[in-house]
Formats: sequence, structure tokens, C-alpha cells
Amino acid sequence: AGPKVDEADPVAKSLGYKDDTHTVDDKKFPKHATTQTCSNCQLFQGGPKDALGGCALFAGKQVAGTGWCSAWTKKT
Ligand code: SF4
Repeated sequence: AGPKVDEADPVAKSLGYKDDTHTVDDKKFPKHATTQTCSNCQLFQGGPKDALGGCALFAGKQVAGTGWCSAWTKKT
């Protein structure tokens, strides 16, 4: 557990993190797709339906299941 990452946090900003994958700027991140979310990212430490979960890139914090960042990697 832990507090949710703030989009304005410097690490979040550098990764282009957003709480809602639908708010990501596709011009800035051409590989982004709205089907990509934290909940289906390899680095997400929560379950597929969890609203919040840990992320390997944000120690001690949680990201939104609906979120996204530029380090998104398809869960295998
Ligand atoms: Fe979400 Fe994955 Fe980025 Fe972590 S690495 S913030 S789980 S998209």
C-alpha cells in the first residue's frame, strides 16, 4: 500500500504517468493505446481489477489500475 502517485510528481512527469490512460497525449507518446493500462502492465503489483496497486517504478506508492506511463510493458 501507500499513497497514490501524484501526476505532478517529478518521476511521474518524467515517465508521462497519468491516472487515466484516456488522458495520455498520443502525439507525445505515439506508441500509447488506450487498451494499455497499469492493470495490464508487467510492472503492476496489483490484481487485474484493483483500482490501485504498487508499481516497480514507484517504490512506496501506488498507481491507478486505469493509469499509464511510458514504461508500460505488456503483462505476460
Ligand atoms: Fe503503470 Fe506500468 Fe507505468 Fe507502472 S510501469 S506506472 S504499472 S504503466
